[in-house]
Amino acid sequence: MVTAALCQDAPLPAVDSLTWDQTAGRACIACGQRLTFGAVPRGSISTRHGARVIAYEVWSCPPPPAVA
Ligand SMILES: [Zn+2]
Repeated sequence: MVTAALCQDAPLPAVDSLTWDQTAGRACIACGQRLTFGAVPRGSISTRHGARVIAYEVWSCPPPPAVA
């Protein structure tokens, strides 16, 4: 039995560990690859910046296509 670690199943990382592209929703939060089609929404990660709370919408790679 092979358990594939899918980006969409990876736990949400801390905001501090994300790159600019990741916080901008342009790159996968798990592997850092640029997203193209079918990105999976992972909700938002929020961080406190002084009195302000900033939330970033984050995304993961789509699951690999099923192999027939
Ligand atoms: Zn990924």
